[in-house]
Amino acid sequence: MSIVATYPVGTPGIAWGAAEIAEWRSRQPRLRSYADEVVSAIDRLRDRFDVVQYGVLDYAPDGVYPLFALRNRGWLQGVPVALVTGGVHGYETSGVHGALQFVEQHAEAYAGRINLLVAPCVSPWAYERINRWNPQALDPNRAFLLDSSVGESAALLGLVALLHEEVLVHIDLHETTDSDESEFRPALAARDGKPFEPGTIPDGFYLVDDTEAPQPGFQQAMIDAVAKITHIAPADPDGTIIGSEVVSPGVIRYPLRKLGLCAGMTDARYKTTTEVYPDSPRATPEQCNAAQVAAVCAGIDYALAHH
Ligand SMILES: [Zn+2]
Repeated sequence: MSIVATYPVGTPGIAWGAAEIAEWRSRQPRLRSYADEVVSAIDRLRDRFDVVQYGVLDYAPDGVYPLFALRNRGWLQGVPVALVTGGVHGYETSGVHGALQFVEQHAEAYAGRINLLVAPCVSPWAYERINRWNPQALDPNRAFLLDSSVGESAALLGLVALLHEEVLVHIDLHETTDSDESEFRPALAARDGKPFEPGTIPDGFYLVDDTEAPQPGFQQAMIDAVAKITHIAPADPDGTIIGSEVVSPGVIRYPLRKLGLCAGMTDARYKTTTEVYPDSPRATPEQCNAAQVAAVCAGIDYALAHH
């Protein structure tokens, strides 16, 4: 018996054109507020951190979205940068709120040791719609490439290009969710006119290291820290997580730059993508945020100790 996934937009086997993209966009209602949940949280941090507006996305009639990053006070020349990014996929809520929680609770402790640059919500239109793509049905996390035509990615690339200091560590905060399999993978197959191949969703936290320049000690430090808060994803029976070989518990590798992934956008020696699983019956939203925070702290601590 074959399973035919029918996505409600487009014709199976035919890649979307402008009409299908417009129809897809019209089917994405605004479900939560970037201004109320994210910008207001950034505003509450303004008396303790420098807030940089690094771009604006005009997605009229849906909205106009200013893009913000936070820096610790007293930026030091000649001291390396720790870059933390969240909400590259807007629906991955703990990436956004984990980044903000890290700033609120821990960022000041790093003052004088490393320059922190935190972009907590890279894709705000998708944050509001609990979606993966931007309004053009493009995935920002495949578009961190030279001369990117994806606004979310291009804006962040522009911010990082202005840095004079070396980026030592970059931690990009994500989630893997049940909706990846029920909505976003079928949508991707439909958009590209390809058949949908069912996959698996790991139950637990994992990391994506860089195939081109792996840093196993760095990844292990983050896994150890997160394991105190939530469970680490076991490998599938074939030894993989989402189809990639598990190289150590909870760690897989991708060629980050080649795929245009956010975590590959800098030359940082230490880089990773975190993947929290929020749909586990064993994990609360608070745990998911705390897992992101633990990963960021452990990652930066490791980078500082091995610099
Ligand atoms: Zn993601």
